[in-house]
Amino acid sequence: YAIFSISILMAMLCLSKIKCEKSHKLQPLFSLPETLASKLSRDPQILLEASTDYGHIIHKSPYAVLEPSSIDDIANLIKFSNSLSNPFTISPRGKAHSVLGQAMAQNGVVVNMTQLNGFRNGSGIVVSNCDVKSPLDCYVDVGGEQLWIDVLHATTKLGLAPLSWTDYLYLTVGGTLSNAGISGQTFRFGPQISNVLELDVITGEGEFVTCSRENNSELFYSVLGGLGQFGVITRARLPLGPSPTRAKWLRLIYDNFSIFSADQEHLISFNNKNDTNAADYVEGILLFNKPLLDLSFYPTPDQPRIKSLVTKCGIAYVIELVKYYDTNTQSRVDEEVDNLVKELNFVPTFMFEKDVTYEEFLDRVHVEELVLRSKGLWEVPHPWLNMFVPKSRISDFNEGVFKGIILKQNLTPAILLFYPMNQNKWDDKMSAVIPNEDVFYTLSLLNAASGLDEVKAFEAQIQQILQFCNDSGIEIRQYLIGNKTPQQWIQHFGTKWQLFEDRKAKFDPKRILSPGQGIFQ
Ligand code: FAD
Repeated sequence: YAIFSISILMAMLCLSKIKCEKSHKLQPLFSLPETLASKLSRDPQILLEASTDYGHIIHKSPYAVLEPSSIDDIANLIKFSNSLSNPFTISPRGKAHSVLGQAMAQNGVVVNMTQLNGFRNGSGIVVSNCDVKSPLDCYVDVGGEQLWIDVLHATTKLGLAPLSWTDYLYLTVGGTLSNAGISGQTFRFGPQISNVLELDVITGEGEFVTCSRENNSELFYSVLGGLGQFGVITRARLPLGPSPTRAKWLRLIYDNFSIFSADQEHLISFNNKNDTNAADYVEGILLFNKPLLDLSFYPTPDQPRIKSLVTKCGIAYVIELVKYYDTNTQSRVDEEVDNLVKELNFVPTFMFEKDVTYEEFLDRVHVEELVLRSKGLWEVPHPWLNMFVPKSRISDFNEGVFKGIILKQNLTPAILLFYPMNQNKWDDKMSAVIPNEDVFYTLSLLNAASGLDEVKAFEAQIQQILQFCNDSGIEIRQYLIGNKTPQQWIQHFGTKWQLFEDRKAKFDPKRILSPGQGIFQ
């Protein structure tokens, strides 16, 4: 009713030639079927929420927000837009944990995906009937709007769990599968997009399609890592393995980059999924000799000697290594950890260990979130840079970026992650782009800014890093990329661009979906 009233009002204003430009934007929704119109909200608070994200840097106001109560609502909205000579854009929005407006739609319609959960009647996460003792055939069907934390809880209570995670679990399944979904398990199990058996997708023409590697495979490959460009993921079928119950969680500190990276690469060379001797998780963290050095993981008595190591070296490099276990493997886990660690060359005595539950480990970032929220430091601007760096150039990257730019400047990254993964765990048919080397590193420069000036300073630093890579011929690929010109997008996709563009023409010919990525609109 509100939409129709506003539309009529604006149309009247238009007739009287006042504010015509704005009312023109309202015109397309004029003839919206009433069943859909009642689910579109123009509540100022809801519009405001949909015009921001975790980045708090870019703001784009949608015309309306769809609060869907069924998958059909989403399909009907997309079909309706397609039926217009001048279609409006539509953006599925998961938890909006993007940082550069990727889930926004200026003057279009944002679809609040998480709303769907309330209408699933418990069918949002359904574990297959299978033998938990030999879980090869076990899988879970998950709504695209579901959060990974809920997937974790629903599966572990049956003794099962997905194989590949992100560091933070309050993200939607549809949101991470639209990017890649990476973490310390990627070297062994591949990114989350490599761990999908089947998808339900509503294409950019509003068609409901079930797809997999065998059926409608082109849509399947397009959507995974597809930045929301080809369809809305409404269900994903994910393979499950046995869920461990506990984790040995280690941090090993290095004062030398080459030794650190050699050890990381050694650890990820044991990457057979079934190799019980392999590490279950490998990441890397850089500690800079700057204010705000977070040493909360480490025992308080050890913090002074860690701090002096960082002060002495300027940068300390930390391998984060995890080995899972349960009651069946408890008796051998210490020996397995010893076997992994004895091959490594960290600074003697700089090994620190925690023993936590599997869920505590996987949900570790949420603990930090609660601390930051309590200090008012969670909802701040996040000028992040995520990228993949080919292994052959990481030494130049360390000299030029870590030592040459970040260490020298008066800016402290909240967190800096740097860890390797294996190319053969990714599927090149999917839309995600990675460097063309067997091993590449992921850089996550996770900045938190105190205000606009600091945002600008971090953005300038990011540009400097990208410029350095460009000038030095380091063929990086950005991850969670945003805010690019069309030319930069073409460069980003490289040899995959033509395929990406052809797929867009096939599945979303009117270029309706996920305009916030800024690729086609
Ligand atoms: P949104 O931001 O809501 O959407 C992202 C994009 O996907 C948009 O273009 C949107 O239109 C589209 N989209 C959303 N839902 C769907 C759907 N159902 N179907 C099709 N398209 C859809 N990423 C990692 O890989 N590894 C990490 O460890 C990691 N850690 C993070 C930690 C934090 C604290 C934060 C804030 C982000 C992290 N991310 C990580 C990034 C995260 O994976 C992406 O930002 C992801 O998009 C977030 O999911 P979302 O539900 O918030 O998606």
